[in-house]
Amino acid sequence: MLSEQTRRWQELDARHHFHPFTTHKELAEKGARIITRAEGCYVWDSEGHKILDGMAGLWCTQIGHGRERLARIAHDQIRQLDYYNAFFQCATPPAVELAAKLAQLLPPGMDRFHFVNSGSEANDTVIKSVWYYWNLMGKPEKKHFISRTLGYHGVGVGSASLTGMRFMHEPFDLPLPRFHHIGNPYPWIEGRGKDPAAFGLEAARWLEEKILELGPENVAAFVAEPIQGAGGVIIPPETYWPEVQRICRQYDVLLVSDEVICGFGRTGSWWGHETMGFEPDIVSMAKGLSSGYVPIAAVAFGRRVGDVIFAGEKEYAHGVTYAGHPVCAAIALENIRIMEEEGLGTRASGPIGAYFRERLTTLADHPLVGEVRTKGLLACVELCKDKATGELFQPVGKVGLVCRDLCVENGLVMRAIRDGMVLSPPLIVTEEQIDEIVTKARTSLDQTLAAIG
Ligand code: PLP
Repeated sequence: MLSEQTRRWQELDARHHFHPFTTHKELAEKGARIITRAEGCYVWDSEGHKILDGMAGLWCTQIGHGRERLARIAHDQIRQLDYYNAFFQCATPPAVELAAKLAQLLPPGMDRFHFVNSGSEANDTVIKSVWYYWNLMGKPEKKHFISRTLGYHGVGVGSASLTGMRFMHEPFDLPLPRFHHIGNPYPWIEGRGKDPAAFGLEAARWLEEKILELGPENVAAFVAEPIQGAGGVIIPPETYWPEVQRICRQYDVLLVSDEVICGFGRTGSWWGHETMGFEPDIVSMAKGLSSGYVPIAAVAFGRRVGDVIFAGEKEYAHGVTYAGHPVCAAIALENIRIMEEEGLGTRASGPIGAYFRERLTTLADHPLVGEVRTKGLLACVELCKDKATGELFQPVGKVGLVCRDLCVENGLVMRAIRDGMVLSPPLIVTEEQIDEIVTKARTSLDQTLAAIG
């Protein structure tokens, strides 16, 4: 029996609140889970259930929830300067300091930043900046973007066009013209039965084929996540990224790394492109930049594009009211300081990442589990109907949702992407908490097996 308070919130939610990525009829029947409190790696709902946040919010709470220091910084910054903009030749100290700090964290030359509020806006900024760049370079025909069918880059009209998922296109008449999608370096599905190294090269060459089909003189950029997050934690074979980089250079195509999930230590280095071994021209980032405490995102420009835009005599007529918001920038800076002090930028590549992999891999013997893969503190446990052949459940995605709901009932947030059970815990996660994740995941898998008969 739910409390009166929970029922009231659920009722108001059902009546007035339009949720992201939600079937509202279904939500109205179930009622939303109301999350009221969070600390460290745990969240609590309005009924007092304690739930291990195996997704770090939505891939973002790197330093864990409820840090007093961030509350203090927000308080101090609001008292000092609550808001001012970066238009009309103004700047605020937190925005300037944050840009300088990010320049230290990225490879040399990747040192100019445009701030926005979300990953979607960051990628819309990427699209416009790339078009702007090619116009300044006197190549106005170089405007086509290539990304991947399971790439997730946001929900703006441009960023959703970069996003490859069909279910996000069809209801909204997207993608826009000039956006193209190729296959994914996804060994579990697209590389079935193939040698991983050979498959990595094959998947990279889909990019080359698409460039040649469109004409290299028309292709502006390739945009991709180092490891695809919302596409299902797709970890490409080692051969993939070096070949992609070679192809982009050969055809004079800009390489954009969407690090909204992979940035800020998630994969074991500060940046996903470091982990995967490539050098992008542009990086977009969000989430871990503030550990999700406040909305802030950024686009980092390397010399090639940054120099041209900086030297431009034409106005860069783009930017939002809250670009480099001083409170958000101050919080992001303090978040990065905490990450540096606690070694969180690389923690996932140390013993804790190894422990995460070792313990999660123990789930591979479960009758429902076809594959377990991890990189840093990212993981996917793929469920399938037949372990021996890897045959998937039909329709894909149904069993994943059963398992996801059981996980939450058992006190663990694990996200279902198709039938892949995904984890991305806060980077402060402990060995004991990893044990708790694995125990709860196994219980949920057993219950899923029983539930589907
Ligand atoms: N890019 C990637 C790789 C993402 O995972 C996301 C969100 O999950 C976005 C962009 C969009 O970010 P936002 O939801 O902040 O607009």
